[in-house]
Amino acid sequence: MSQDIKKILQKEILTRTDIIGLLSAEGDDRNQLFAAAAQVKEKYVGKKVYYRGLIEFSNLCGKNCLYCGIRAGNKKTKRYEVTEQEVLDAARYAWENKFGSLVIQAGERSGKEYIRRIEDLLREIKRMSKGELGITLSLGEQSEETYRRWFDAGAHRYLLRIEVSNPDLYPKYHPDNKKHDYHARLEALYLLRKVGYQVGSGVMIGLPFQTTEDLADDLLFFQQHDIDMVGMGPYIEHEDTPMYQYKDILMTRVERFNLSLKMVAVLRILMKDINIAATTAMQAIDPMGREKSIKVGANIIMPNLTPTQYRDDYKLYEDKPCTDEDAEECKRCLEARIHMAGGEIGYGEWGDSKHFAKRKHE
Ligand code: SAH
Ligand code: SF4
Repeated sequence: MSQDIKKILQKEILTRTDIIGLLSAEGDDRNQLFAAAAQVKEKYVGKKVYYRGLIEFSNLCGKNCLYCGIRAGNKKTKRYEVTEQEVLDAARYAWENKFGSLVIQAGERSGKEYIRRIEDLLREIKRMSKGELGITLSLGEQSEETYRRWFDAGAHRYLLRIEVSNPDLYPKYHPDNKKHDYHARLEALYLLRKVGYQVGSGVMIGLPFQTTEDLADDLLFFQQHDIDMVGMGPYIEHEDTPMYQYKDILMTRVERFNLSLKMVAVLRILMKDINIAATTAMQAIDPMGREKSIKVGANIIMPNLTPTQYRDDYKLYEDKPCTDEDAEECKRCLEARIHMAGGEIGYGEWGDSKHFAKRKHE
């Protein structure tokens, strides 16, 4: 191992330069980074991996993020919304199989009727599961009032990726209008905290024009904003999006994957007690992607519980995995995989962010 990496890994506090050094580690240096991250994980959050059953509730979206396959402007996508009964069936499956929690994710919408529908659904899920299922939402930017209504109805975590923490890069990946404003997204993260959610954020890795310095700043952003949980993964191009034009200047997918893995490891060292997800986009590039993430620091996994007939239409990016596997197959396959990665499954537990609990008690 090079002396530089060894020195960095022994430090209590990492500087931006240290982080850039770690993100650039290759070969034996990289293995040392992974080993150090695995140790931190074991010490601070333990071996347990928590499940969040994922319901991709709808691909209807009012926004037009330039990278996303379900953006409003993609007329090729067949739009759907999962029915209330189907959501409740999926929630029951999660509950009966002792998945501690659900994630409800969808495109961004904010109509009155929609907001109420989500609110009603949350109450139904809570009632059905006797309050036992934890609920994370990932429904984009909303008003404080909406966040509060959904919180009061039973959601207690919220995932809103900043996507890229550099405000100068943000407009490269989003249309230039008020609906897609970096500062509004940041404000939404503050609102979520104010309302009382465990706040999750994240970024895409390997975007065109993004540098290693930017990625180091992304990690520091999570630290500065004291984020409780992070979901991040490789950017994967989608043919029917404006950003597809940059496909030839991207890193290879394998490079994006390797960089994402290092991001997970460095984040675990930087923020020892947060929750970090092993994301589906990792698995889209490498069939063992989520297991590898678990080994180097991730402790959350989101088995897909979306009814299979809708899954093909929730294509945020190309090659999304497991779109033809039902919940039962998915569960069996995952269990084996997590054990292989040296993890244990936290059945029947919410697996809340320890970081959040600590802040609350301070
Ligand atoms: N509409 C909500 C949640 C659904 S999108 C929102 O935008 O917050 C969930 C995440 O998918 C986004 O935050 C984005 O980071 C990710 N995503 C979208 N397109 C992607 C792509 N082409 N490659 C990788 N991740 C993508
Ligand atoms: Fe809509 Fe989210 Fe995709 Fe943006 S990333 S277009 S808000 S679903």
